[in-house]
Amino acid sequence: MTKFKQWPLYIKILLGMAAGVVFGYIFLLTGLSGFVTDWVKPLGTIFIKLLKLIAVPLVFVSLIKGVTGMKDLKQLSGLGLKTLAVYMATTLFAVLLGVGMVNLVRPGDMFPQEKAEVYKQQYQSHVEAGIGRANAMTETGPMDFIVEIVPENILASASNNSNMLQVIFVALLAGVAMVALGSKQIAPVLTLIDALDRIILKVVDFVMMFAPVGVFALLAGLIVDFSGDAEMFKALGVYALTVVVALFVLMFLFYPSLLKIFTRFNLKRYFQGIFPIQLVAFSTSSSSATLPFTMEQVQKKLGVSEEVASFVLPVGATINMDGTSCYQAISILFIAQIFGIDLTLAQMLAVVFLTVLASIGTPGVPGASVVMTVMVMTSVGIPVEGLALILGIDRPLDMLRTVVNVTGDSFVAVLMEERASKGKKPNLSKADS
Ligand code: ASP
Repeated sequence: MTKFKQWPLYIKILLGMAAGVVFGYIFLLTGLSGFVTDWVKPLGTIFIKLLKLIAVPLVFVSLIKGVTGMKDLKQLSGLGLKTLAVYMATTLFAVLLGVGMVNLVRPGDMFPQEKAEVYKQQYQSHVEAGIGRANAMTETGPMDFIVEIVPENILASASNNSNMLQVIFVALLAGVAMVALGSKQIAPVLTLIDALDRIILKVVDFVMMFAPVGVFALLAGLIVDFSGDAEMFKALGVYALTVVVALFVLMFLFYPSLLKIFTRFNLKRYFQGIFPIQLVAFSTSSSSATLPFTMEQVQKKLGVSEEVASFVLPVGATINMDGTSCYQAISILFIAQIFGIDLTLAQMLAVVFLTVLASIGTPGVPGASVVMTVMVMTSVGIPVEGLALILGIDRPLDMLRTVVNVTGDSFVAVLMEERASKGKKPNLSKADS
């Protein structure tokens, strides 16, 4: 029997998750949930904090490394444009899938009306908080989203993880300047960046060793916190199932078909490689927090080169959210159905367009969808109070849509790797099996 230390990481993470669920239930049933909240949950919080701690330096250093590894600026802009185009296309597909599914199943028509009143009262304060935050965001002009990407102070942007787009902007700017200068003039900085990159990846390795304990604590804490969800799941069953089926279609049909059509990548290898990433995404509900892990796995297990991974993934974790966009479309139209609102074709198109934008703007943190959903709903005249009906089971669906978000990013990284290596197989010789 192989020693525990040598077991694959995903097995250890799976065991951690299963143990967390069992542990959480035992403590819940024995009335000792306070122990989990006080002593176990903090370990999960530490795990997420560690992941977030690495995010900014990782994105900054690896993006510069990726850009300076490119032959020239033409290669960079080629990769950049292709990546953005694929991100947009997959997001649009995810939204259309969501719209199609929710119109086909019509879960809103089956929702028990007496539950609506109960949930509305229960979640009123959450909804108001969401509306408040959304209003603060919409009090800005249409160009503000772009203006916001350009920071005026590099330290200020690096001090807040939600400013990831600003960090990406600065790293790209510095990387492009370095390519323009040529490697001779900046040799010492290149050596420094290289060393920093190695240090950061080593830190990621250390944090990952803690992952099984981290996910154990996160899941035990979740079981204790959301023990009332089972009842909600029953009332909202058809809606939740619609979301789950749509997310599964993306994960098990959409990306694999694209991989088959556009690459020669082995599907089994792909799923094995991304499985540990999916587990971390599921446990943390945050694609930003999962990013360090995604970067490492995609390079080590899927053989994606550093140049491609370090450009495609940080950008993807920030703007590409297929699971989120699909979920947003379903939840918005589900609420419209409950209120008996029949949307015109123009309104439906507006939902599609705005949901694509909303998902781009959604930060990769737990529960972030709701605030962005408020904006789409207000724009097409669907009562935002309806959000109260779905907030209760947001967490499990959030866990699942985050899994799809990171799957989509990893898929695009593999696709771009094949394009970059002009149809050659991704460099699996560099990858561990
Ligand atoms: N939790 C999601 C993520 O981090 C965002 C969301 O849909 O709320 O990817």
